[in-house]
Amino acid sequence: MPIDPGLPYDRANIFARILRGEVPCKRVYEDEYALAFHDIAPQAPVHVLVIPKGAWVSWDDFSARAPDAEIVGFTRAIGHVTRLLKLEAPGYRLMVNMGGHGHQEVPHLHVHIFGGRQLGAMIAS
Ligand code: 5GP
Repeated sequence: MPIDPGLPYDRANIFARILRGEVPCKRVYEDEYALAFHDIAPQAPVHVLVIPKGAWVSWDDFSARAPDAEIVGFTRAIGHVTRLLKLEAPGYRLMVNMGGHGHQEVPHLHVHIFGGRQLGAMIAS
């Protein structure tokens, strides 16, 4: 079920629990601003999630309210992870689902990185 992005941050959401170390993940990268880990149900040969360390529900929440340093740190971390995964030459796709129409399921902002094969058309019809 897609989340309601208007709700306050839920500290019990699965990514908050991963950030606190209560739930394991296959970590790819971590710094002051972000944690990157493999998606539990990959939809491409490379499917990594990058999440900010701050308590941000969605892209809307983050882009409107996060301090500049967190936005810069998170954005740079995403780029760092794509290079770590050696995706810059073959290419890759970044995706953020937001709210109901975006079909966001976890109420903690996350950027999907897809790669490792030709990804085809942007959105399924
Ligand atoms: P959304 O639809 O919210 O953009 O994507 C949520 C993503 O989180 C999905 O791709 C789903 O497979 C992934 N996911 C959900 N629960 C877990 C988990 O416990 N661990 C990991 N690594 N990924 C998860």
